[in-house]
Amino acid sequence: MPDPGSQSRPAQKRLTVLSGPSGVGKSTVVAHLRRVNPDVWLSVSVTTRKPRPGEEDGVQYHFVTDEEFDRLVAQGQLLEWAQFAGNRYGTLRRPVEERLRDGVPVLLEIDLQGARQVRESMPEALHVFLAPPSWEELVRRLTGRGTESEEVIQRRLDVARIELAAEKEFDTTLVNTSVRDVCDELLALITAPKV
Ligand code: ADP
Ligand code: 5GP
Repeated sequence: MPDPGSQSRPAQKRLTVLSGPSGVGKSTVVAHLRRVNPDVWLSVSVTTRKPRPGEEDGVQYHFVTDEEFDRLVAQGQLLEWAQFAGNRYGTLRRPVEERLRDGVPVLLEIDLQGARQVRESMPEALHVFLAPPSWEELVRRLTGRGTESEEVIQRRLDVARIELAAEKEFDTTLVNTSVRDVCDELLALITAPKV
């Protein structure tokens, strides 16, 4: 017997936005999530930032020039974009829309300004804020990563104060004490039936 409700039920689809201050552990959590659940599709952003050691074009980001970024903006190819601590970052519109149309859960790891744009253009998205256990721990992580100069770290910490103050704009907060726990909690949110 076919399930009588199945015809009218929309395909499961959920757009989740993960945001939080630089150094809180967003990339670490997302990388772990991709390993344990490859069914969640992570959007690969474009950025004008230079790759860090170990970063590969097309994996963590599509690394582009300023001119290429200008062109993507002019052609309307970005779902959202923002300037962050001296570089530009944006989400490619088409792959996100295609995955959502196919019912695939989509995860965007973007900054506060981008999250606000997505809230406007796609109000059905779930917004998750990743918070540090404390300010001191955030400073420790950002400094300990060892990928940025003192000046860039300072700039990112200035932005972090603004981002932390915006926590209440989000639907829910996860505190990144343990990467594994946060990942489980995030996965539960991503795959939860939509209410
Ligand atoms: P973001 O992507 O938010 O800027 P990263 O994922 O690069 O942050 O993490 C910043 C640093 O913090 C990295 O050195 C990472 O290994 C470390 N880190 C991430 N999550 C945790 C955690 N739960 N406990 C301790 N260190 C963490
Ligand atoms: P990082 O340089 O540390 O990789 O990223 C810096 C900030 O840019 C982080 O807060 C990250 O979430 C954000 N970011 C990454 N990709 C995008 C994007 O496509 N759009 C926006 N708005 N922010 C992004």
